[in-house]
Amino acid sequence: MTTSKTTLAITSAAAKPTGAAPARLPAAGAGPRYLDRLIQARAIHSMTGEVYRSVGLRGAEIAATSADRDGLDDLAGAGTVITDAGDVTLLPTFADSHEHLMEASRNTLLVPVDRAHSIAEFTAMVAAAARDAAPGAWIMTSMAWHESNLAENRLPTGAELDAAAPDNPVLARRSGHLAVANTVALTAAGIGPGTPDPPGGKIGHLPDGRPDGVLEGGAVWQVAAFAPAPSQAQLAEALGRGSAAYAALGVGTIREAMINTEELLAYQDAAERGTLSVRVRPLIRVGNELTADQATALIDGLGARSGFDDDWLRIWGLKFVMDGGVEGGALEQPYTSDPARSGHLNWDPAVMTEVCTGAVRRGWRIGTHAAGDRAVHTVLDVYEAVAAQEGPLPPWTLVIEHALLSSPAQRERVVRGGFGVTVQHSLLWNMGSEMLQMWGPERTRQVNPLDEWLALGANLAAGTDIARPFNPMLNVWGMATRGTKAAGVQGPEHAIGVAAALELYTMGTARLNHDQDRLGSITPGKLADIVAYPADPLTADVDDLPGLTPAFTIVGGRAVHDPGGLLGP
Ligand SMILES: [Zn+2]
Repeated sequence: MTTSKTTLAITSAAAKPTGAAPARLPAAGAGPRYLDRLIQARAIHSMTGEVYRSVGLRGAEIAATSADRDGLDDLAGAGTVITDAGDVTLLPTFADSHEHLMEASRNTLLVPVDRAHSIAEFTAMVAAAARDAAPGAWIMTSMAWHESNLAENRLPTGAELDAAAPDNPVLARRSGHLAVANTVALTAAGIGPGTPDPPGGKIGHLPDGRPDGVLEGGAVWQVAAFAPAPSQAQLAEALGRGSAAYAALGVGTIREAMINTEELLAYQDAAERGTLSVRVRPLIRVGNELTADQATALIDGLGARSGFDDDWLRIWGLKFVMDGGVEGGALEQPYTSDPARSGHLNWDPAVMTEVCTGAVRRGWRIGTHAAGDRAVHTVLDVYEAVAAQEGPLPPWTLVIEHALLSSPAQRERVVRGGFGVTVQHSLLWNMGSEMLQMWGPERTRQVNPLDEWLALGANLAAGTDIARPFNPMLNVWGMATRGTKAAGVQGPEHAIGVAAALELYTMGTARLNHDQDRLGSITPGKLADIVAYPADPLTADVDDLPGLTPAFTIVGGRAVHDPGGLLGP
């Protein structure tokens, strides 16, 4: 009934350590007790302290582990696919505590002009999209571009977009507040010579009075309103493509930081079709434009509550936004770049307390964006009031997103209240220069002091918030070095070790998602979400981490990324 060790050893020995095709044992005996897949590796870090050499998968789950390379041989039958991955190191997949997969996926439907280095490249991409588009179909660009990345350091003109796409409407939006449109798009929106500026907006003009294509503020929306939104089916397809790009970087779960109910339906479509390559834990937006009654009605109307539905797609909770980002974060002390400014708060704390108290009573978890320290203290006021009425609450019911700036006293309040915090070094990595300019060097080096949070015993979970696939190993490097993209090393005293960073990015987020019994570690009985690296991240030179990408990724026992074909069928 068992397969002999000798047979297995011969099979394995015949295989090359890396790059070898997986072996199938010839022996009979396949049955429910046998493994579907057996992986042998140089090191398998459970993230709960153990190091294994072999792991066995059955169905979607981890069935067995062994510190001995051949320790699971008795569980291999005829149907067991054996991968002798002698050179790779396995970790549980990364779980991103705060990322915008929907936005990243939607961008795959748009013209990627953020990759252009010149006006000519920009307009060539638009022209190529127009060639492929149906007559009259809208050409929409990614919003992630900026003229400072173009050699000419200026916006493309409406005339240049006319030349690139004379017959299709083109809208090149840049963030939410600026866009360049061609003549067909302006005409479709009813904008011509003499059209007045809309409230809060500006339509740019040529010397002869015709619009020049540049739109600001409300004028962007005046045109964007005519461009069809992607259909639910298009979004579901885009989520398949988008999620595969994250899985290719070793991510197995994404806590989707803000969607609306239509986008939730697109997620459900994608999950039902089996096109998602990562698990998703969405937060549904509760907008601050709503009154307390409207917000409560929205939450009641959702019907479900936190924890619905399955291992692939499960609603995490509700999302509130208290302040802006680097530019609009609510700070206790004025901006360094503008002493007259200290950012803005979106919610009246009394209104938010009322809405959140009702939501928690109905079984909802809440995540609130708070970037600046004044926002953190305001959210703490709200959360403490909610907990006073509804507590004691299970950990990870009330969560602060980002907490980029926080005082020691605020951090103590967070820990005392049992609140969770999602942290994203990638924001300091990406926007360190802007933080230096707007917040000054003292505050910038204090952004997300993970060492201080951990010393207090805070509930932390690591992620990115970058809205595009981001190598988790670059983020781990950042947590371990405090290195950034263009602002050097910021606050090296707040670095944490690689093992601690990995823990926050696996078990930390699993706890945040209330998935700690199903995900976050390589443990029998948990879901088989595993990533393989060609080097051991725990022993590699820390500066080699940013260049490290997965050899393969498995989610739910399924190979979702296997460029070398190591995992076979
Ligand atoms: Zn976000």
